[in-house]
Amino acid sequence: MVDDAGRIVLHGRGASPGIAIGHIRFADDFVRVDRITIEDVPKELERVRIACDETVRQLQNRSETLRGKLGDDAAYLFEIHAMMIEDEDFQSSLTAKIADEHVCAEYAVQETGDEFASIFSSMDDEYMSGRANDVLDVSRQIIRNLGFGTKDGSETDTPRILAADDFSPSQTARFERSQVPAFVTRDGSITSHTAIFARTVGIPAIVGLGPALRMEFDGKLVIVDGTSGQLLIDPEESVVATYRREMEQMEHEQKVLEGFRGKPTKTSMGHTIRLFANIGSVEDARYAVDNDAEGIGLLRSEFLFLKCCGSAPDEETQFNAYRKVIRFMEGKPIIIRTIDIGADKQVPYLGLEEEQNPALGLRGIRLALKRPAVFETQLRAIYRAASIGDVSIMIPMVNSLDDVIAAKEIARQVRENLASEHVRFSDNVPFGIMIETPAAALISDELARHVDFFSIGTNDLTQYTLAVDRQNNMLEEFCDTHHEAILRLIRMTVENAHRAGIWAGICGELGADESLIDFFIDIGIDELSVAPSNILRLRSRIATGSKS
Ligand code: PEP
Ligand code: MG
Repeated sequence: MVDDAGRIVLHGRGASPGIAIGHIRFADDFVRVDRITIEDVPKELERVRIACDETVRQLQNRSETLRGKLGDDAAYLFEIHAMMIEDEDFQSSLTAKIADEHVCAEYAVQETGDEFASIFSSMDDEYMSGRANDVLDVSRQIIRNLGFGTKDGSETDTPRILAADDFSPSQTARFERSQVPAFVTRDGSITSHTAIFARTVGIPAIVGLGPALRMEFDGKLVIVDGTSGQLLIDPEESVVATYRREMEQMEHEQKVLEGFRGKPTKTSMGHTIRLFANIGSVEDARYAVDNDAEGIGLLRSEFLFLKCCGSAPDEETQFNAYRKVIRFMEGKPIIIRTIDIGADKQVPYLGLEEEQNPALGLRGIRLALKRPAVFETQLRAIYRAASIGDVSIMIPMVNSLDDVIAAKEIARQVRENLASEHVRFSDNVPFGIMIETPAAALISDELARHVDFFSIGTNDLTQYTLAVDRQNNMLEEFCDTHHEAILRLIRMTVENAHRAGIWAGICGELGADESLIDFFIDIGIDELSVAPSNILRLRSRIATGSKS
């Protein structure tokens, strides 16, 4: 960890390329408040009152801002949080702890939060038990307003490089590049959705730094090298200067790539490959546009569901979100993947049972078939959106022909209902599937006869073919993404698609792997859908045949 020159350098996995220089801040979950006894009870009661009032005010402001940007559902969470603070029982507990036990305000809030959270989590009702995290969240915010600890990035005033054990996909979905210039984690793997999010938004990130990432670094100047996976703590001025030069060099390279903006993506042999972007939210569409994507090859629609806290987004909310993406993309094609909830993307309000092996559990199409109401609502919104834009439907985690037939039957009924209700929708929406299990790849000849396109999800295809948990960073040395088995499954899928006269693309992270471009061209891949920041680099690589 300490190099020859006495510098502290931590090594993790580069999860999202790029360099960021700034001060590091640990997310609050790391910090516990000590029990401090106080003498002046009225003063402590006044402190807690001011902090609660301030937190309620901040939550109301945030709720109003979000209502404008993302609609009522997103705003609702913060209203619930404000109500929790104002709750009579919550307030009496704070007062009792300070007045009777003579503990400091911070400790009283922490203890009250813990007690309420354990009451919530012991409740049978799934919705109520899901409120445990909310009450912990609001308690942390009050504690911060009491002047303790650090902030959690989503509301920081000065940009900070964030550190934590790990961030959940729903936490990262709230990060803004302007506020969180980079993040680093002890755990996590490079194919987790947290890492994928970082690449989509273009935030440099390092995962898997392990226990060497210590709390004592909080507040220090650090350099995040998201390409090499190195985190430099308190670097000397000369090292900072070197990295700043490297950042300038990267900016220069980016300017050269700008020459490929607006150009078609063609190989030297004249084969056209469509270069699309993967996005996880409406806002991400702007990264697709900024980076000159030719369309959206994967809209991970479940992120709409992860941002909503009380309930699944209704048809209107989803329709509006898809409509916004359509407007952003100005006529370019958009492939909406129906929700792939489950595995690492959990939402409390669906009341799903805890699973021993969530990656092998109720996710993707399996969940859609078990919860047809959620699936139907989403399909209604998609078919309506398709009447105003070039939209396709894509189904995740398909494993069998039965999955396809069942999904298509629900889609047919949805169209029939829309027609009988005289709702405006498109009856002509391409229906594709993801190939992300070995089973699907092996029967892709059969599946190809029933769908309009294939998109190969190499993240899961790798996980399921090699039996390597994509969330487990200890297994990365066993995760050979170029394994012959995976390359054969990809080739087989593309060949079977072409034999049946449909197109095939790749929307997993492997699609952006420059070292495989010649292989992709050789097998005749039709589309690559990648993190927006990779688009110009890949277009240059495909057109010139050389590495950028
Ligand atoms: C994949 O599995 O490759 C994929 C694109 O889907 P996700 O990463 O969202 O599971
Ligand atoms: Mg997948």
